[in-house]
Amino acid sequence: MGRLTEHFTRKELECRCGCGTCYVSPQALSKLETLRRLARRPIFINSACRCPAHNARVGGAPLSQHRSTTTRPATAFDISLRNFHKGELIRLAIQAGFKGIGQNYKTFVHVDDRHYYARW
Ligand SMILES: [Zn+2]
Ligand SMILES: [Zn+2]
Repeated sequence: MGRLTEHFTRKELECRCGCGTCYVSPQALSKLETLRRLARRPIFINSACRCPAHNARVGGAPLSQHRSTTTRPATAFDISLRNFHKGELIRLAIQAGFKGIGQNYKTFVHVDDRHYYARW
């Protein structure tokens, strides 16, 4: 169980179906570490990488930023709200450089490292 960054292990970021897929964009990982540093508390990831089959099963968009293949890394993290108020987490995520923010979920906020601002 390798540590991918100072605060996150492979186990936390790999596909939840058990397939072992775990290709995350290095730039997205570095922003996740920045977010962790700004937050100064543990960050729980509900979902990061998804293999194409699992992405389809959970109803992810076909070109979801969570989708991870050998040629295309995931750039998205669904961050649990168990340690954050939603507004605070969104503010910190933007500060960390994430441009894609999905806020209409009960238990998590989706953040991703797309190249244009998008909020839903
Ligand atoms: Zn999988
Ligand atoms: Zn998401």
